[in-house]
Amino acid sequence: MNEHSIRDVVIVGGGTAGWMAAAAFSRFLNNGYTRITLVESDEIGTVGVGEATIPPILRFNQMIGLDENEFLAATGGTFKLGIEFVDWGGLGERYFHPFGNYAQDLQGVHFHQLYLRERARRPIPDIAAWSMSAVAASLGKFGRPSASAQSPVRELFYAFHFDAGLYAQLLRRLSESRGIVRVEGKITDVTLRPEDGYVQSVTLADGRTIAGDLFIDCSGFRGLLIEEALETGYEDWRHWLPCDRAVAAPCANVREPDPFTRSTAHAAGWQWRIPLQHRMGNGLVYCSDYLDDDTAEQQLLAALEGPLLADPRRIRFTPGRRRESWSRNVVALGLSSGFLEPLESTSIHLIQSGIARLIALFPDKRFDPIERFEYNRQMRDLYEDIRDFIILHYKATTRTDSPFWNRVRTMEIPESLAHKIALFEHKGRLFREGNELFTTTSWVAVCLGQHIVPREHEPAADALDEKLVAQALEQMRLGYWDTAQKMPSHAEFLARIAPQP
Ligand code: FAD
Repeated sequence: MNEHSIRDVVIVGGGTAGWMAAAAFSRFLNNGYTRITLVESDEIGTVGVGEATIPPILRFNQMIGLDENEFLAATGGTFKLGIEFVDWGGLGERYFHPFGNYAQDLQGVHFHQLYLRERARRPIPDIAAWSMSAVAASLGKFGRPSASAQSPVRELFYAFHFDAGLYAQLLRRLSESRGIVRVEGKITDVTLRPEDGYVQSVTLADGRTIAGDLFIDCSGFRGLLIEEALETGYEDWRHWLPCDRAVAAPCANVREPDPFTRSTAHAAGWQWRIPLQHRMGNGLVYCSDYLDDDTAEQQLLAALEGPLLADPRRIRFTPGRRRESWSRNVVALGLSSGFLEPLESTSIHLIQSGIARLIALFPDKRFDPIERFEYNRQMRDLYEDIRDFIILHYKATTRTDSPFWNRVRTMEIPESLAHKIALFEHKGRLFREGNELFTTTSWVAVCLGQHIVPREHEPAADALDEKLVAQALEQMRLGYWDTAQKMPSHAEFLARIAPQP
């Protein structure tokens, strides 16, 4: 440490974002010098939703030292192998977006190209039959992949569904045990340094003042520091993502939890169904131009599978992102840095990525602009990549049954996405660039699932012997099927790993 090192980090907000940041910093800034304080207000509370994740969450939990079984027990968690999309490509249709990859490439040719070639020759099953995660999900099975296993179970990728409130409590216990100081109180004032407009301190309703060198704004949609104090600005993406409201309502489980999230498209939005051990999370995301709040709530309640467990919660949001996630000495994480509807369960991942990038670019008190610039560049790219992938689900539909679907089906889309779709439509080509989050498998799953079918395949796929390809595909398909059959059911697996009393 030296005279320039950051001494005081102040985290404003104790939702999922605040406690994830605290848990990570308690591990990576544990240098005997940096002090970390988290301020939160029980009176204000948290947004109280956010239950589905994607595979990188495993890395975050490992990084902060959480045991997976204990984490699942503490948060009512279940395993997630992907997302089932119902009624998205067209009414009465469904497809699966799996985690992990489709089967192996053959002699350097991408698997999906071989699949496209084979599919043009003869009727074959849906591409999901070549994904270990999708096949296991379709049978309600789960098993942990092991690196040494000589079977396709190696290719199983998973994430979790969990109660985000319980997760924040778990992270709080962990962080406090590692010396993070929690301050309860409502911030009523923010003081900026006169010389450069950097945040100097926050003041609580009872008059206490908390000063800091670096502030992490985890205050939720309002962006207490990044927006209300620093006026950073917001990019509004409603013209591409018109859904701007949600209503959430948990219900009791009436059957064993599925190892996947379900997203069912409605006339003016879509409904999520997220199975936890102790309840089912449900919510309807919708566009207020076509559906009012009372009707949305009625629709959601009518669709619940079990008895309602808590009052429905209504949420308003503006899809988009803060123009800069890092401004002066404030880094916004979570809802204060932007929001994209939870169609691909990416918000908690955005928090995790923001934390990892901040640790990699951690400043000192001189705040060199190059660190801030790079952080903002990487976060902008990540938001835009996720944005494009979500827009794809709306744009690529054949639905004509409501004004909402007619609007999104015919809307202008970002140039970056239009280019990607055109390339795929031509010969099924996909290129994953830079730090893009979604894999080729993800794009193939959604494109084919929603009727974007390439006109041809890559010439390289024709170089392989027809018989060899047909045999290899069949062997792989049967391998996945046999392996999944032998796995325990998801419920059995959860019971097996439950901590013994
Ligand atoms: P919040 O939970 O709003 O926390 C804000 C914190 O700031 C609170 O502790 C509050 O007390 C504090 N605070 C605010 N003002 C003050 C003040 N003046 N003084 C002191 N403290 C203050 N994400 C996923 O990854 N998967 C999902 O399935 C998913 N589903 C979602 C569904 C919906 C409808 C919505 C809206 C979001 C969903 N998310 C999901 C996103 C997820 O909920 C959030 O990313 C996550 O909860 C982080 O929220 P947060 O911590 O940024 O904000």
